[in-house]
Amino acid sequence: MRFKSFLKSVNWPGALFLTLTPPIAVVLTIIHFKREGFVWPIWALAFVFYTLTAGSITGGYHRLFSHRTYEARPWLKWLWALFGAGAFQNSIYIWARDHRVHHRFVDTDLDPYSISKGFWFAHFGWMLKAEGPPVALEPYGRDLANDPVVHFQHRYYVPIAIAMGFLLPMILGYCLGSALGGLAIAGFLRMVTLHHATFLINSWCHYFGGQTYTTENTARDSLFMAIATFGEGYHNFHHIFAGDYRNGFRWYHWDPTKWMIQIFGLVGGAHSLRRTPRSEIIKMQLEMEERRLKQQLDSKWQARFQHQLDNLKIQIHSAQERFEKVCEEYRQLAATYTDSRLERLRELKLQARLAKIEFQAAIKQWRAYNSFLLTARP
Ligand SMILES: [Zn+2]
Ligand SMILES: [Zn+2]
Repeated sequence: MRFKSFLKSVNWPGALFLTLTPPIAVVLTIIHFKREGFVWPIWALAFVFYTLTAGSITGGYHRLFSHRTYEARPWLKWLWALFGAGAFQNSIYIWARDHRVHHRFVDTDLDPYSISKGFWFAHFGWMLKAEGPPVALEPYGRDLANDPVVHFQHRYYVPIAIAMGFLLPMILGYCLGSALGGLAIAGFLRMVTLHHATFLINSWCHYFGGQTYTTENTARDSLFMAIATFGEGYHNFHHIFAGDYRNGFRWYHWDPTKWMIQIFGLVGGAHSLRRTPRSEIIKMQLEMEERRLKQQLDSKWQARFQHQLDNLKIQIHSAQERFEKVCEEYRQLAATYTDSRLERLRELKLQARLAKIEFQAAIKQWRAYNSFLLTARP
């Protein structure tokens, strides 16, 4: 009886696929090496396939279909749908629906990959179970079901996935000198590596790293994971600003998915890229810093300096607001450029630079004051 209920509780197709593909990848890679040695065009092919399939998961499945952080032309949707299927992470419909449920019920029993059930469960275990969380999933994918690209991909997911994830790498591998190499490295090994890179977002990024913007959920920011996952590692930021097409919001944050979406924006594939206003991000960041500071200070000491802390926060926000206002005026004026506006544009540029300097100085002052309070506390 117990054995029967165990058999019923396992998602057999998923479990067999996820547990058998890693050894298959290793065995095929060894056979390829023994027979054909190191064939560098095959590794280049694997790199290209990894980029296309990983980009389709992060830029397509995640930031477009799950969160609608930008709008895409049909050709870009097809690109994401075809190469995304080749990642073998289920159809857009199922992936995005489950992911929305994860955001909505993060860390609770209704979260499909809740970290509260352990690192291994969030990473892998949840996909081995036949039953999902006790919540109606369908409403979270209703809009997606009406999208013709999503609908088609869901309906023919298995043949598309096999064609894009295994057959195409094998055919291209054949053209480059090794069909076996194409299947082993650009097919299986690439897919297994991408599987676990993606799964680490659900496990590692809810376990290790900094909580820069919120402690209301377990999501963490991890540069290491951002490097491993095309920028998805800024997960604390992502959970609080899920409608932003960026996960690393600063220009220097390692977020290739953000750069890719920007490039598609330039060539006309993507438009209406949504960003969280900088002032909102700074506000959350300062709130977290203040909360951490307060945890370390006794209430009397804190009350003595609260006024100064509030003043510094006001300085930061007003410099930030001024900067954004000037930039907005500059953008509007530059869009309808005439020679007569040149002088005003120069003036606005200067004002923006000054507001930026003021903002940076206020932030420095705030941080210096925070560390002063910590070192000088009684
Ligand atoms: Zn998450
Ligand atoms: Zn998300």
